Amino acid sequence: MSKKNVYIGALGIGGNFPVRVESMLRTPLADIKACMTELTGLEREGCELVRVAFPDPGSAKNLSRLISLSTVEIMADIHFDHRLAIGAIDAGCRSIRINPGNMGGRKKLKELSDLVVEREVLVRIGANAGSLSSSQVERAGRDIAKALSDTVSEQVFALQDNGVDRIIISAKSSSPQVTLKANTFLASKFQYPIHAGLTEAGPTERGIIKSSVALGTLLGAGIGDTIRVSLTGRATDEVKAGKRILQALGIRRFEPELISCPACGRRRVDVAFLVELIEPLLKELSPETTVAVMGCEVNGPREAAGADIGVAGTPAGIMLFSRGESRGVCRLEDLSETFLSLCREGGLLR
Ligand code: SF4
Repeated sequence: MSKKNVYIGALGIGGNFPVRVESMLRTPLADIKACMTELTGLEREGCELVRVAFPDPGSAKNLSRLISLSTVEIMADIHFDHRLAIGAIDAGCRSIRINPGNMGGRKKLKELSDLVVEREVLVRIGANAGSLSSSQVERAGRDIAKALSDTVSEQVFALQDNGVDRIIISAKSSSPQVTLKANTFLASKFQYPIHAGLTEAGPTERGIIKSSVALGTLLGAGIGDTIRVSLTGRATDEVKAGKRILQALGIRRFEPELISCPACGRRRVDVAFLVELIEPLLKELSPETTVAVMGCEVNGPREAAGADIGVAGTPAGIMLFSRGESRGVCRLEDLSETFLSLCREGGLLR
């Protein structure tokens, strides 16, 4: 993780702070009511930083409103016009995502930088493979990862020259390999926190798999201080996926761990059905709990001996077990109640 900490309001990022989970609103700022509905869903899901596109100065009032009503920090996403970045800061935004290279030249970048320093605003430098110019790609010998990291480096230096030091860096591609290479280089060169993720990762299932590969490798190597799983789908799915990636890596714990067997010819019950029954009960349990759903009593309790509480199919009904030891058998229709009462006894409720 990065050596440097930065803050957006009270939200600490980098250093010893937890890896943060981000998403971005799909709704245009012009529709403030729909924006608020989407934002509330993200807040409930546990999103810690929400980015919103700010493409038009006419939406400044709505941006201001969104910021004042939000319980999470808002980052304005700006392209091509430094006046939009200034407008977002004037609207009360404490963080902006820009590409300093397209802010209209040195004079305009200096004007923006002076305001950023004065208002203690955080700047995320966001470079995407898709927005590299052909000359940037040529200069890097057609190596996209190198072109991305060179571009980010130039932009960091341009901001530093203007006295800006509250920086998060980000270099994204839709390719996990290119993203890994670019970020590995940037992490070795700079101490600033890194926002990690793929861009245009794809529709939900494909996007989650690609993002898990990329983020798993980066975070496993200690690179990445804030993440976004970018999906063509619901923003709340990005947050769920981000949290589950962090939990699978053992970096953060958000919810009980659910393990379930794939089922085989020995199964005594429809395991998928059993999972559907147990999964809604997890919100009642402490996040530290591990729950197992297994298809048979022959192997299930032994295979899931590490689980704090588990259920398995038997010819006589559903067996409950804890740490591999049987805790009795109940009828399917009594399972939810029996499961929760055992959890209560075992001190597993939240
Ligand atoms: S727990 Fe039983 S049903 Fe599930 S995979 Fe193992 S042996 Fe098969």
